[in-house]
Amino acid sequence: MYSPNSLFFKSIIMQQQPFSTNGSSTSFDDKIKKAAMKSSQLMHLFETALKDIYWAEKALVKVTPRMIEKATDEDLAWSLTKHLSETEAHIVRAEEIFELLNVPAEAVKCEAMSGLIREMEVIIDTCEEGAMRDAGIIAAMQKIEHYEIATYGTMRQFAVTLKLNDVVDLIDLSLQEEKASNEKLSEVAMDAINIEAAETTEK
Ligand code: FE
Ligand code: FE
Repeated sequence: MYSPNSLFFKSIIMQQQPFSTNGSSTSFDDKIKKAAMKSSQLMHLFETALKDIYWAEKALVKVTPRMIEKATDEDLAWSLTKHLSETEAHIVRAEEIFELLNVPAEAVKCEAMSGLIREMEVIIDTCEEGAMRDAGIIAAMQKIEHYEIATYGTMRQFAVTLKLNDVVDLIDLSLQEEKASNEKLSEVAMDAINIEAAETTEK
């Protein structure tokens, strides 16, 4: 559980700058207060990102089955199916992080993810079935993965700074799965879909 610990800040400040010999304890106290304030602001940013990604992961669990249904390439459908179960695990991990922080789990609408999902839906509704639509699904899905990688990457750095080691470990698991999913989508695109989509256009 997280709780700002003034002893922790004292020890950091004492390591960085030993007590001045003229005995000014006021500036020492000010430094502790500033360190505590920065930490609580960082904690606030972390919680905001957590609520955002919690909403995003839940929205993705709802929309991914439609992507799977509309994908033609077997490898793409398999990758999306695998990542759907990982996304379900990301929701559970986010809930575990809320618990570790002793903060009630709350999803706050992520406007960025909402927009990326809308883009995906337009592609599904307007692209010709087959390789073209598959290429469009991959492109939209990779934007989604990049958003998640950026968010988890930032959250990880905040958690490292806040010395929330258990939280860092949980974020690492989701972050690695997002990166692997993005790489797999690149592979699928390189292997077949983009080549086929280009051939379809040339005909
Ligand atoms: Fe995810
Ligand atoms: Fe993802």
